[in-house]
Amino acid sequence: MRLSLYGFAPYVRGGAPTLHGTAEPQDGRTAGRLRLNGRVAKGCACGSGTGYRGCCGRLHRGEADAATAEELMRSRYSAFAERDEAYLLRTWHPATRPERIDFDPGTRWTGLEIVRTEAGGPADARGVVEFRARYTSGGEAGEQHEVSRFVRDGDAWVYVRGKVG
Ligand SMILES: [Zn+2]
Repeated sequence: MRLSLYGFAPYVRGGAPTLHGTAEPQDGRTAGRLRLNGRVAKGCACGSGTGYRGCCGRLHRGEADAATAEELMRSRYSAFAERDEAYLLRTWHPATRPERIDFDPGTRWTGLEIVRTEAGGPADARGVVEFRARYTSGGEAGEQHEVSRFVRDGDAWVYVRGKVG
């Protein structure tokens, strides 16, 4: 395993080389579509099975904070899929936060699997989330396996760093 300061953000200018370049928004075709009240809604990229607007979209729009480290992790994954740089930066601990994020237009995020969590609940100050994030880049499928660390910064969870393995 190599240490990654940016965890689920291997696309930082000046950051370490990465296996897979950068993220691109998932469109409705890849994220799947849900039919809600007769309307077609875009399924959230995090794989929750619910629509984006009511899932990670709430967090991205600042209408809610993630209650758990896992929820923050999911919302950061979706933010990569949606290319929401502002959300990624504001959910990043100031000590490790990059100045900006460069998204690679050739990479598309295709799925997230949460492998394991430690602490990170509403009553915890710290949390760990291990996940696998799948992507395609240049027509080839790949996977990022990472153990990410989160802390609570006031009322909100923030991402600190991750180990990519
Ligand atoms: Zn979501």
